[in-house]
Amino acid sequence: MAIEKNQNSEINKSNLTTNKDSIKKLSLTSKIVIGMVTGILFGTFLQWLMPNGSDKIIPLYLFDFSIRGFFVDGILEIIGQVFMASLRMLVVPLVFVSLVCGVCSLKDTSKLGRIGGKAVGLYLITTSIAISIAMTIALIVAPGEGVNMATDATFTSKEAPSLAQVIIQMFPTNPFEAFAQGNMLQTIVFALLFGIAIALSGKAGERITAFFEDMNVVIMRLVSILMNIAPYGVFALLASLFTTVSLATFGNLIEYFLVVFFVLILHAFVTYPVLLKALTGLNPIIFLKKMRDATIFAFSTASSNATIPVTLETATQKMGVKNSIASFTVPLGATINMDGTAIMQGVATVFIAQVFSQDLTLADYLTVVLTATLASIGTAGVPGVGLIMLAMVLQQVGLPVEGIALIIGVDRLLDMTRTAVNVTGDSMVSLIVAKSEEQFDMEMYLDEDAGHDIESIDKLKNN
Ligand code: ASP
Repeated sequence: MAIEKNQNSEINKSNLTTNKDSIKKLSLTSKIVIGMVTGILFGTFLQWLMPNGSDKIIPLYLFDFSIRGFFVDGILEIIGQVFMASLRMLVVPLVFVSLVCGVCSLKDTSKLGRIGGKAVGLYLITTSIAISIAMTIALIVAPGEGVNMATDATFTSKEAPSLAQVIIQMFPTNPFEAFAQGNMLQTIVFALLFGIAIALSGKAGERITAFFEDMNVVIMRLVSILMNIAPYGVFALLASLFTTVSLATFGNLIEYFLVVFFVLILHAFVTYPVLLKALTGLNPIIFLKKMRDATIFAFSTASSNATIPVTLETATQKMGVKNSIASFTVPLGATINMDGTAIMQGVATVFIAQVFSQDLTLADYLTVVLTATLASIGTAGVPGVGLIMLAMVLQQVGLPVEGIALIIGVDRLLDMTRTAVNVTGDSMVSLIVAKSEEQFDMEMYLDEDAGHDIESIDKLKNN
């Protein structure tokens, strides 16, 4: 605990030193928002310049200059991929080190079971609420009614793992293999066990704890340094995506798209705030404001996993959730909690049933709620994975899996939006658990500028 305080004060102290200078400068969040908007505009402009995936060649004095080669396959690709790689690179070391620290700082490791129980319980409850709202609204709006789409499209689903397999596979046979593969559940299990062993190891344990606490400071600093390329990374990812996304591809899927989008927004701006207020009494507007960076990252990367460093930083440096809770609940949530995904699945199931004119019974709807909630546990937070899970849900209620081919065309944008909802859910649950365990810093939560300059290079120089 003392060490945790020390870290926080170290970070706070350095915040203060640069707060004044940086107020005049653009905050990192504003830069990221600018990167996002200009990326979308630039991508759309490139698409207009090169319609239908064509190229635009500009003859220069000695050679032909290809706009696609230079921008889409060149600069944008390099910046976007380097940005993604640098985020992913941080995930495993960050989760492992901060979780080991989190367990050590709990002291009383018997609390772990209680914290885990609360987090998993809340994750399951919020996911079932999400999917129930989604199906109710989809049934009212009926986006699939009267849609006549070519159904010669095919989709081959990958086999979804069974619940037994999911449980068995949570335990690594080789922790280094788990790290190398980026297997989040196995990494979490190993870190928990390792942390418990450290906590029970007396003097030797204390020395190792001190080492991990220092490592944690260093890795969080690495996150801060890399955050500085975020505006460019977000710009490149979105620009390159918007060279292909066009509203014309939506066709008669527009209603489906809008229903999913509407429910995602409703869940983020109504369900979460209501739950947060009811369970903690905290002001939900502050929560939503503090989520801005993390949601933009989630939107741009479409990956809860890749967003873990930013979600963790948001929870611990902006919202006041202690590392002992966030280090556990954030990576766990990124792996098992996917409310946004469940919303897409609820609407998609109703949509596909309507398109294929198949009536679902009440029992079928309940099956969908249950399967989608359970399926989300076994699914990694990476782009597009929600569609694989959808195959499992459709199979459970006897709907044609090929239905997925109908909606795949508009899935990328929905994937981005639902990932933003997924990480918002992870953060909200972390906040609720932290508050109930009194592992929460109210002052930091209320401080609008908390963590504001944490990413500033100037601050690093000053330190
Ligand atoms: N991309 C989502 C996530 O990472 C999962 C999905 O719905 O495909 O949270």
